[in-house]
Amino acid sequence: MASSIIFGPVNSRRFGKSLGIDLSPAKKQCNFDCLYCELTPRKTEAAQSDTIPLQKVIDALEEALLRFKDIDVITLTANGEPTLYPHLEGLVKHLQTLPQKTLILSNAAAIHRQSIQDTLLRLDMVKLSLDCATQRCFKRLDRPHKSIELPRIIEGIISFKKRFKGKLFIEILMVENINDSEGEIAALDAVLRRVKPDRIDLGSIDRPPAYDVRGLDYETLLQKARLFDPTLPVVITGKKNPPSTPYSYDEAQLLNTLQKRPLTESDTEILFDQETKVRFARLLESGRIIKKEQSGILFFTTPRRG
Ligand code: SF4
Repeated sequence: MASSIIFGPVNSRRFGKSLGIDLSPAKKQCNFDCLYCELTPRKTEAAQSDTIPLQKVIDALEEALLRFKDIDVITLTANGEPTLYPHLEGLVKHLQTLPQKTLILSNAAAIHRQSIQDTLLRLDMVKLSLDCATQRCFKRLDRPHKSIELPRIIEGIISFKKRFKGKLFIEILMVENINDSEGEIAALDAVLRRVKPDRIDLGSIDRPPAYDVRGLDYETLLQKARLFDPTLPVVITGKKNPPSTPYSYDEAQLLNTLQKRPLTESDTEILFDQETKVRFARLLESGRIIKKEQSGILFFTTPRRG
């Protein structure tokens, strides 16, 4: 049914009005079986066994675009992994004929493959998951199909970024006691400094996961974000439960915090109490705190960090 292939539109501050295409609407088809997945657990597959014909996807999309006239972005996704869709190249070529921007959300399992890279190069934005940079953590958290090796994913992401003219975003989903240790973060940090993505979305579990694992709250994620190299554009995503009492920072603490880790506008709104917001505004006006935009996100930082 057309309605199950296409979902949305959903409004996002970053991308505008987005219409989603689900390339596996009938059931989960994925080469990972992540502990935090919101879908019903299922054996991993290296290829789709249940595939929708390309024309059916295109017809469903055209129908939706007639109904919703003001779509900014078309997002390729799946109940599972969209790069498993065998007609992805044909679909992406069709999307290139449309005026909307294009985005794919992928687990990066196939990013080392030349054909997949060539297809994704045609998109405006690519968001790849990278939860772990050590094999042990990767196997434990993302539980990939046996054909998938982490070093190939990492080298694939690095080589793709070098070729890609669009925006590359990396998504890290943190799970308590699995990929949130200093060691795992240091390993991720080293890889991300090589990748140089346009943005890193650091999030945790928002909805009930398939397995019994726990996520991190906003404050803990913020502490974890500080462990990454301060030049990396890390943004905390997902549900942001504010601290029970907003924080009070004096000027020195504010400058020190922003020097270590730039904060987004929404971080400052959530974290600071009223007096800190006034101090923050004063520092901004005097130029001791500056604004910096990266991939549509406004960061606050100190001039020394450029
Ligand atoms: S990659 Fe996505 S769909 Fe596949 S198991 Fe992980 S969370 Fe679920």
